[in-house]
Amino acid sequence: MSDDKSEPKLELHKDYLGRQVVLSVSRGKRPHDAPKPRVGKDAPPEKCFFCPGNEHLTPPEIDRIEKDGKWEIRVFPNKFPAFHESSKKAYGRHEIIVETPDHQKTLSELSVENLKDYLSMVKRRMEAARQDGRLKYTSVFKNEGQAAGASLEHSHTQLVGMEFVPKYVLKIAKKTAAFSKMEKKEKKGIWFDNGHFFAFCPKASRFPYETWIVPKKQVSSLVGLDDQGLHSLAECLKAALGALDAESGYQPYNIVFHSGPHDWSAFPFHLEILPRHSTWAGFEFATEVVMSSSVPSVCAKELGSLVKT
Ligand SMILES: [Zn+2]
Repeated sequence: MSDDKSEPKLELHKDYLGRQVVLSVSRGKRPHDAPKPRVGKDAPPEKCFFCPGNEHLTPPEIDRIEKDGKWEIRVFPNKFPAFHESSKKAYGRHEIIVETPDHQKTLSELSVENLKDYLSMVKRRMEAARQDGRLKYTSVFKNEGQAAGASLEHSHTQLVGMEFVPKYVLKIAKKTAAFSKMEKKEKKGIWFDNGHFFAFCPKASRFPYETWIVPKKQVSSLVGLDDQGLHSLAECLKAALGALDAESGYQPYNIVFHSGPHDWSAFPFHLEILPRHSTWAGFEFATEVVMSSSVPSVCAKELGSLVKT
């Protein structure tokens, strides 16, 4: 190997599922930009389906949390479901959880208390799905922004209950033991820790500023969290999304709740926040190896400096 300083510095990382990421470290060492200004949402269209006053435009409400007679969080079936109880081939349920009545707000702008209410509602809907013995798995995810797949900009989360456990979930389940070592292994990438949950940028990040939130004590899903656990997760989520939004200027992201199949106790519940600054292209589709020029430990430092306490 030559000592030529112009030689690109590259690293190849593999995550706990065997996914590979090739990092162009020298490119990633560029001085980081200052936090970007907020990208505003458009004014709510007169008939935003999710805004207060337009409740009659959604399918009938199935759950809500309200304050002073007004809803704070509202749940109803997806008007265009991927799974439905009347379907023979794709039996299940597909729900929308509107997280705030305010059209302009994103999740990071809610208070810790409101985020706790949001997580409590997700837990409640997961418990409701478990009441249906035909359903084996509940997937919860959030698409924020068009590039992340959101078709409506009013902040919301989706819940899909299905009759089968996806193979990908079974693959994660096999790696439950690896999560107990994650705090030690990913030490350099940890940028928030409240004693119950920690947030970090994994060494093999597939997206710039990718952030995972992992509980210190293994639990298989939100259903296994008590009141204190939900509060701690809300606090961690607030810190994580606040820093990510401050860094990116509220760019699109996905949040994935990785939960165990119904009635499984051994599963590494965690949240993955996947900022969509970059797009996967030909190389990723050809090889399933991800090219990245952002160094996770550098991203972690930057995000840590943006956490509001
Ligand atoms: Zn709206």
